[in-house]
Amino acid sequence: MAAAGVAAAVTAALAGGAGSSTADPAPPTGTTTEARTTEVEIPGPERGGAAGSGHTHVPADGLDRPAPRLSAREAAADGEVTKVIDNGSTADRLDVVVIGDGYTAAELGQFHTDAKEKWAEVAAVEPYTTYQNLFNLWTVDAVSNESGVSGDPDQATVRDTALGSYFWCDDIERLLCIDETKVDSYVARAPEADLVIVLANSTKYGGAGYNEPSETLGYEGISTASAGNERSGQVAIHETGHSLGKLADEYFYPGYPDYEQYTGPEPGDSNTSTLTADRMAAERAKWHRWLGETSPDGGTVGTYEGGGYFVKGLYRPTDNSLMRVLGKPFNLPGIEAMIAGFYRHATVATAVTPTDGTLRSRHTAKVAVPRLAGVATTPLAIRWSLDGKELKRFEGRREVRVSELGLKLLDFKKHRLSVTVVDRTASVRDPEIAGKLRSSVVWTVRR
Ligand SMILES: [Zn+2]
Repeated sequence: MAAAGVAAAVTAALAGGAGSSTADPAPPTGTTTEARTTEVEIPGPERGGAAGSGHTHVPADGLDRPAPRLSAREAAADGEVTKVIDNGSTADRLDVVVIGDGYTAAELGQFHTDAKEKWAEVAAVEPYTTYQNLFNLWTVDAVSNESGVSGDPDQATVRDTALGSYFWCDDIERLLCIDETKVDSYVARAPEADLVIVLANSTKYGGAGYNEPSETLGYEGISTASAGNERSGQVAIHETGHSLGKLADEYFYPGYPDYEQYTGPEPGDSNTSTLTADRMAAERAKWHRWLGETSPDGGTVGTYEGGGYFVKGLYRPTDNSLMRVLGKPFNLPGIEAMIAGFYRHATVATAVTPTDGTLRSRHTAKVAVPRLAGVATTPLAIRWSLDGKELKRFEGRREVRVSELGLKLLDFKKHRLSVTVVDRTASVRDPEIAGKLRSSVVWTVRR
C-alpha cells in the first residue's frame, strides 16, 4: 500500500504542481469537484528511503464533515491560548503555534505535554538548538469530541475531531491532512503565528507539509505530525526546511522516466543546482562558499548528483541531509538558509528602556540581547554609536548611562544613541544573509 502511495505521489508531483491533474487519485469521499484544494508534501515511507514522496493536491477543508458540537464545559476550554515558552515579545521572536487534534477535554493536559515534547525534538536539531531562545512556543487548545484521529488504526476509522485530521489522505496511509479553515480559526487566537504545527493524538507514523504562507494570518506554513511518533517529528522539521529555510527537496525518484534527467534552467532555490563543483566554484554560485567543508550530516560539501526530484542533471550539496533523509541534520548550506529564515521573524536587540521620549543624563539606555544556547563564545556583538559614530568603549555592554556619553555642559542639542547587535555566526558565509543578521535600537538623548 505504501508503494502504491509513493507511485501516486510521484505521479501527482509529475503534474508539475500546477493545479490538479487527471493523475491525481479521486478525492476522498464527501468532497465535491469544486472543493478548494491545497498542495501538500507527502512524507517519505516510514522505513528507509526519502524524507518525502513529492506533492499532491488535497481538499483544503479536509473531509466534508459537520463542525463538532461541544458541551458547555468543553466549549469553555476550547480555544484557550498558553505561552508555553516565553523568550520575549511576539514582535521580536519566532512564534511557533502548536494545536492538538483528537484530544478530548480530559486529554488537554496530555496535549500540553506532547506539544512540549515535540518542540524539544525540533530544538534538538541545529540550527534550532543554538537559536532556540529566539522562539516562543504557544499552544491553542482544541477540544475534540472523540480521542484519536480519522484513519487510525485503519482507513475506515472515522473520528469527530476539532480540526478534522485524517490519515489516508489522498489514499496515502501516512499522509495526515487537516481542515485548514478549522486550523486557521484556532491559529487566529494566538498572536502572530510564524509557524504552525498540528499534532494528532496518535502514534501512527505520518505527517504533511502545507508550505504555502498564510495570506490572512501571516504564518509560513503548517506541518502536521503524530504526537506519539518520533519519526513524525522529523517530518515536521523537514517541512520547516521548506517553510522557513525556503530549501528544496534533495531527494529524487529513481525509476520514473520523467524524473531521470533534469533539462531545465538553474533552479531558484539555494540547495539545488545544475552546476558541478568546479563550475560552481568558478562562477561563485549557490553554495560555493561551503565546498569541501565537513558537513554535520556526514561527508564533505560538494555537488552530489540527484536532487529536486531528478536523478540526473541536478545536484545537491551533501549526500544525506534532512532535506533528503529523515533523522539526519541539515547540511551546512541548509543551516545557513534556516538561520536566514529565523532572522526574517526574530530580532536580537530589544529595547528595555522605551525609545519614545528623550533620555536625559539621569537615564540609562538598556537593551535586551538573547543568549544563544550551547556556544562558548557568543557570536552576538553589541555595538553602541552616538550620532552614527561608534563608541568602542561601550562594546559588549547591555546598558549605557546618558551621563557616560560625555555630552558637553552647554550642549542642549538632541543626539541619536543607537545600539546594534550583530550576529557574526560562522554558520553564515553569504554576505547578503550576514548583512541581515542584525538589529538596532535607537534612542534620542540630550544632556
Ligand atoms: Zn520536502
